[in-house]
Amino acid sequence: MIISFSQIVAESRQMRREGRPFVIAGPCSAETEEQVCETVKQLAATGWVKLIRAGIWKPRTRPNSFEGMGEPALYWLKKAGLQFNLPVAVEVANASHVESALKAEIDVLWIGARTTVNPFSVQEIADALSGTDIPVMIKNPVNPDLQLWLGATERVRNAGITSVAAIHRGFSSFNHSVYRNEPMWEIPIAYRLAMPDIPMFCDPSHISGKRELIALVAQRAMDLGMEGLMIETHPSPDAAWSDARQQIMPDSLTPLLESLVIRQEMAGSDAGERDELLDLRAKIDDIDEKIIDLIAARMEVARAIGVYKKEHGLSILQLERWMEILRTRKSRGLQLDLSEDFLERYLEQIHSESIAHQTRVMNPGKDEGEILW
Ligand code: PEP
Ligand code: MN
Repeated sequence: MIISFSQIVAESRQMRREGRPFVIAGPCSAETEEQVCETVKQLAATGWVKLIRAGIWKPRTRPNSFEGMGEPALYWLKKAGLQFNLPVAVEVANASHVESALKAEIDVLWIGARTTVNPFSVQEIADALSGTDIPVMIKNPVNPDLQLWLGATERVRNAGITSVAAIHRGFSSFNHSVYRNEPMWEIPIAYRLAMPDIPMFCDPSHISGKRELIALVAQRAMDLGMEGLMIETHPSPDAAWSDARQQIMPDSLTPLLESLVIRQEMAGSDAGERDELLDLRAKIDDIDEKIIDLIAARMEVARAIGVYKKEHGLSILQLERWMEILRTRKSRGLQLDLSEDFLERYLEQIHSESIAHQTRVMNPGKDEGEILW
């Protein structure tokens, strides 16, 4: 069964127009031949699933957990895929996994989050893939590092793999959060900007960590125009040998998917509808231009302050003034319905740009790289 992501993307665009997301589903781990076969059978019956996933070698964070059934499970999966006419995907973390998966004629491979972080491992996998053209999906690294994710994609592409997709599965965080892995949506968005031709799927299961949250995260992914979803499913989720809290029954997949609102990439063909969008965009263009002009004017004043501070021997950073700016601007922004997180990040960026301008005024002729912080 030969599939490629360009085929998948074409299919997923068509499905989106029909209001249906492209779906990859299957158990977190292949546990027994019966469980694999039962899951694939039930998923095939939903009519929604286009690609089956299952973990064969499980990268567990702590030892003494279930580490996957290994090679024999590749054959259970392939057999079930053939029986129900669905392509199958497994995670590979080293060259020998690639070799075994290719031998078992697995249709699609994916690189897991704990592997994407390590360029040695990714390169080893890329080398093992060279000379094949099996489709490969690349999960984001566990840490929020866009460059690592892009780098892994480049390594796989450089090995000659033409069919590549990315999977957004969220990022580890020390902070206690409602998510198992923080979505940090700005990172997959930045990835798409850097690699616009690579389809992006979302794995709401690993972002959520609990089944109650999956629909919400999946909806966010659809709102952002992601190409599809990877959802962990198990015939009896609570008894699953890994990720029990986040797996759902194949039967629950249909209502979940039906509840999603699938947004279209382009405005409808109705000319009135399009004009309304164009008018609103023209307003945004105008406001953005004013914002940039105002920021530039603010920096001009910052440079004048820099001259004053230099003449009077004052330090650039005046802590009390900065605290007052933070407090007053935040309180105004909050009243105007801006989020605290945004206001903090925005003010920090403005302040750091302002400091850079003042630093340049105070240290003329010095190399920027040395003096900017
Ligand atoms: C998985 O898909 O089961 C998995 C291990 O995911 P991740 O690499 O995203 O942690
Ligand atoms: Mn899992």
